Amino acid sequence: MEFVMQQEELPYFLISDFGGNKGIRAVFTTRHGGLSRGPFASLNLGFHTGDSPVSVAANRRLLCRSMGISDEQLHTTNQVHGDHVLVIKERKGTGRREVIDADAQVTSVQGIALTCLVADCQAIYLYDPVHRVIGLAHAGWRGAVARIALKCVEKMAQEYGTDPKDCLAALSPAAGPCCYEVGEEVIEAVRKAFPGDWRQLLDPVGEDKWKFDLWGANVLVLHETGLKGENITVSGLCTICRQDLFFSYRGSRGVTGRMAAILILE
Ligand SMILES: [Zn+2]
Repeated sequence: MEFVMQQEELPYFLISDFGGNKGIRAVFTTRHGGLSRGPFASLNLGFHTGDSPVSVAANRRLLCRSMGISDEQLHTTNQVHGDHVLVIKERKGTGRREVIDADAQVTSVQGIALTCLVADCQAIYLYDPVHRVIGLAHAGWRGAVARIALKCVEKMAQEYGTDPKDCLAALSPAAGPCCYEVGEEVIEAVRKAFPGDWRQLLDPVGEDKWKFDLWGANVLVLHETGLKGENITVSGLCTICRQDLFFSYRGSRGVTGRMAAILILE
């Protein structure tokens, strides 16, 4: 598995060989190919950013057209950095509006494009090829310490009988251990959440400042969940380093667009 750039008229990453790519598509957009301007240039997909809603709606239509799906299929949630996992049992896109508070979604219904919006936070794609169930979680540092990936896999097990050993996972581009500086609040939370492993996740870089390995924390949680190491792929692209390619919340001091992670059973 690997994040591979598709050079369509609207460029995006596709996770190659995710479950053999048979009847499943996993996409991660870049900041390019849309209509938004200024700090939102150009493919901003988040309505909650301060960008013109007309531009965001047009960008979502452009993306959907290039993926060959309708924008009614997009299933977005209101992401609140919590740990609620939404189970979707019938096809009913949320379209333009994020109405339900949830940071992870699972479904076995074909045609629902689970969608997570990020700019430095990590999207975690999950796939159980045995029961044909997908999950998509939004994990920044709060999601990592709340073990949102674990809660998502547990929900898949509860609702559909998923065995974590069968699951595939892919971790999107996100703020990397090279750049992600954190302060007191995050350090405390990470030490508390990972009492045995926090040293490998925090790297001191001066007084009261540490760099946090968000990718490593999410991988750790996936291991705890019971996923096999060989079934976990990390994109390895840092959104703060690569602002030529991605929106970065930190890199732009908070005023920026959002990329979309999309996972769909077809
Ligand atoms: Zn970096």
